[in-house]
Amino acid sequence: MKITVLEESIRRRQADGCTICPRCGRSMKPRLHTNALSRQLAGIYVCDDCGMDEALRALARCPLPLKEWRAARAEK
Ligand SMILES: [Zn+2]
Repeated sequence: MKITVLEESIRRRQADGCTICPRCGRSMKPRLHTNALSRQLAGIYVCDDCGMDEALRALARCPLPLKEWRAARAEK
């Protein structure tokens, strides 16, 4: 799946009120904007654990490939 398609699909789901983390598949906090903003996908929220993991991986210059995100694996 193309990243832009995946990104758009996640963005639409989050706009519709979905609070499942697109990165790990676990529940996020019910108020979407209180969760972490992804560093990898602009404007997309991830759970706090994933936000922290993204930050650490960014420091190590080893981001989790988008194809490994739960949302990408679920739509194959
Ligand atoms: Zn997560």
